[in-house]
Amino acid sequence: MSKQAAVPALAVSVRELRNQPGAHKHVVQRGPVPDMTTPVAWVEPDTEVTVDAEVESVVEGLLVSGQVRVMAKLECARCLRVVDRELLVDVQELFALDPREATDDGYAVLPDDRVPLDAMARDAIVLAFPAAPLCRPDCAGLCQQCGADRNLTDCGHEERAIDPRWAALADLDLDASRSGENGDGGPGGRGSEAPTEGPRRQAKPSGSPPVNDDR
Ligand SMILES: [Zn+2]
Ligand SMILES: [Zn+2]
Repeated sequence: MSKQAAVPALAVSVRELRNQPGAHKHVVQRGPVPDMTTPVAWVEPDTEVTVDAEVESVVEGLLVSGQVRVMAKLECARCLRVVDRELLVDVQELFALDPREATDDGYAVLPDDRVPLDAMARDAIVLAFPAAPLCRPDCAGLCQQCGADRNLTDCGHEERAIDPRWAALADLDLDASRSGENGDGGPGGRGSEAPTEGPRRQAKPSGSPPVNDDR
């Protein structure tokens, strides 16, 4: 019985669009799409995916343009909490009328004149999964020493975010700023040179007009 699930969940009849370039219709299809899982993001098997798209008959086949929408599960890269996140993905794919002329992605109209939208939806959603999801932009993450969730508790451990080598660089920056404070004469000298160039350039045009006026 369950093997009948091999029938595409999101398939819409487009018989009236075949070989009618310019004809189009709006389709909204909902249904579960299996096999959308990466180590940090996934869609539950029973979660419905929505495809809201315009199907247009073109010379090369059928052009499907619209949006794929689904509620995905994301595991925060910092605190490992799993959060729900709605994904909205724009899609535009060409479906060949003849499976033998299918695109690189393998999109083609089925023999019964239906467009299978599940593979397109799956590809779009999996590509839209973030590589390093965050539960929120300012997630404080887990303590590197005791593993406590810093969003929930303050374990009191110092955050050792600064690598010792970076700390050395910070010392160099401090030294540089100190030398800048001591060398007030340097910046002052540059500042005094810049203004003198301006007046000189302006003096030349102001001197030449009287000569022209005399002639
Ligand atoms: Zn988090
Ligand atoms: Zn801690």
